[in-house]
Formats: sequence, C-alpha cells, structure tokens
Amino acid sequence: MKKVPKSEEELKKSLTSEQYEVCFLKGTEAPFTGKYLFNKEKGVYECRVCGNELFSSEDKFDSGTGWPSFTKSIKGNNVKLQNDFSHGMHRMEVVCSKCGAHLGHVFDDGPKPTGKRYCINSVALDFKKKK
Ligand code: FE
Repeated sequence: MKKVPKSEEELKKSLTSEQYEVCFLKGTEAPFTGKYLFNKEKGVYECRVCGNELFSSEDKFDSGTGWPSFTKSIKGNNVKLQNDFSHGMHRMEVVCSKCGAHLGHVFDDGPKPTGKRYCINSVALDFKKKK
C-alpha cells in the first residue's frame, strides 16, 4: 500500500495537475474522458492518492452519465459521505476514508438492489487487475 504523502508539495509531485484538481480541489473530470469509464476488466479500484481499496469491478455498471459508476463501495467504511452544498444544490460527496481525497458523488438513482449510483472520477482511481 502506498504511503500517504504528507505535504502539499509532495502531493503535487505525486499527482498530475488534473488528479490534484479533482482529489484536493474537488474538481470533476470532463464526462466521457476518464480512462476507466469503459473498463470491463475484473479487479479493484484503489484510491489514486493512498492506495485504499475503494470499489470492485463487480459493482461497476454503465450509467450512461460519462463517469465510472458503482452501486456500492467495496466495504462500507472505505469511503466517507459528506454533505456538499456547492453549485446551489445539495449532493452527497464521496471521499476516501483514509486520506480524504475527493472521489465524486453518490446519487439515489442507481440500479437495484442498492439503488445507489456512486459517480466517480477516473483520475481519482487506480485500477488493479485481478490476477
Ligand atoms: Fe485515499
């Protein structure tokens, strides 16, 4: 597991500017541009910043929104949800429970059985293919 970089300087060095923008300035990658959007391989999606396991390929579905979408996190406590009132709306923000990196948002219009749609930025993730 990767060490969580401490300083902002270290973080900026270990991430691309787009990754820094999304993970720490709560940005959003442009829809239909993320490298994991159409990834159908079996494996685990980890936090790009700290290596925390976040989502499984088994819970990934094609939401048609332009971002990788999952019906749940790999374990309940690996992501944290928090209120986000930015842009004049109320959304639930999804962050890595270990390092606090912004990952995306969760919505209540996902498929059964969870009914959840975790809408996650590809750049916040690092895919580890199942061996
Ligand atoms: Fe993390």
